[in-house]
Amino acid sequence: MQTAEIVAIGSELLTPTKTDTNSLWLTELLNEIGIEVKLKTIVGDDELRLEETVRDALARSDIVITTGGLGPTEDDITRRVTAKAIGLELVFRDDLLDHLRERFKAFGYEMPERNRQQAYVIEGSTVLPNPNGSAVGMMVEKDGKRLIVLPGPPRESRPMFTEHVLPGLNETSGEVAVRRKRIMVSGLGESKLDELIAPIYKEYENPVTAVLFSRTEVEVQLTATAKTAEEADAINEELAGKIVGKLGIAVFSLDGEAMEEVVGRLLLQKGATLAVAESCTGGLVGERITEVPGSSDYFLEGFITYSNEAKTRQIGVPAELIEEHGAVSQEVAEAMAKGARETAGTDYAVSTTGIAGPGGGTPEKPVGTVFVGISDKEGEKSIGLTLPGDRHLIRWRTSQAALDLLRRSILRS
Ligand code: ATP
Repeated sequence: MQTAEIVAIGSELLTPTKTDTNSLWLTELLNEIGIEVKLKTIVGDDELRLEETVRDALARSDIVITTGGLGPTEDDITRRVTAKAIGLELVFRDDLLDHLRERFKAFGYEMPERNRQQAYVIEGSTVLPNPNGSAVGMMVEKDGKRLIVLPGPPRESRPMFTEHVLPGLNETSGEVAVRRKRIMVSGLGESKLDELIAPIYKEYENPVTAVLFSRTEVEVQLTATAKTAEEADAINEELAGKIVGKLGIAVFSLDGEAMEEVVGRLLLQKGATLAVAESCTGGLVGERITEVPGSSDYFLEGFITYSNEAKTRQIGVPAELIEEHGAVSQEVAEAMAKGARETAGTDYAVSTTGIAGPGGGTPEKPVGTVFVGISDKEGEKSIGLTLPGDRHLIRWRTSQAALDLLRRSILRS
């Protein structure tokens, strides 16, 4: 298996506000063609450190990919330093200069003199065109090692890599394909989930199974390696089938579909409509549902009833019910769902009410106490949860629980 290293270049990537995301999609695309990423480095605009990093990377790995630092400014040192690290000269290309000038002219500008340096490329390199920016990329081979130099902005580097680098790498990467499959699970904790499926996946060395926990869900990730992508997919499918069989309705999506997309698809299939009544989520459920293109086909209305008075006035939750059980209660969650469904005239309505914190908790109802309700033609149901996390997480997890309750109700009806 060929090995690769990624070097993300740019001092801004070492600040708390910028993240290196190029290496994520690069790794995914490389893995798919059976190239393993062994190391990732982030280097600031520092000539010595960059040269050392690229030189070491070339000594260790078959393929070294850099991103960033190809612009026309002083701190864009990549062109010069990568050439030095691989032991090659930079050469000036008149055709690239002409192209740059034309590019500027097309936008109605004279090319600034400092952009001239973007017409220098590493001798013997294949120039990678950049229709989305001024910096071309480069690919060069020396002593059996391949150096690929890409610009920083993902909208420039990603198409460049996919169109001009990946096909060539694929041909030489040998007959190895690595494929991933994601099984998204809701309503089960990480350890409970692992307890259920470990006896199944432990039987398999290939695919490799990982149980990952994110903010609202648990994901089972299968990674299969085989000679071809089709074979790797088949290996994943076999184990995925067994895991899905064991987990049943707790699996809400395969291959990355988000909960709101799943729910939208199910509503569309049924030709059913939806309303939401939200208290502690303050519109988050509605926001997630309407993120999905085409949601106007099934989502009719949302009520953000934050105060008790609003719950009564907008969706007819009896004041006495709130008085008797408190706004954060099973009874009120169900009454909110019922009221929303009747007011909006939909097939389904879901509701949320809870204590997102940090204040407002009591010994009986601590922070994280939430109820999500549903109303459909069968009547009302609700579930109570005690969710961990800060305000942001509790609100997110509540929205996920409400959408999941809806999903399960649609599937069961
Ligand atoms: P340009 O021709 O646009 O100047 P460049 O190759 O010089 O390209 P940089 O100046 O290093 O690129 O980075 C430009 C922008 O690209 C950064 O501000 C950042 O938004 C984005 N970028 C750079 N590197 C990465 C990375 N590793 N992951 C995600 N985004 C990145």
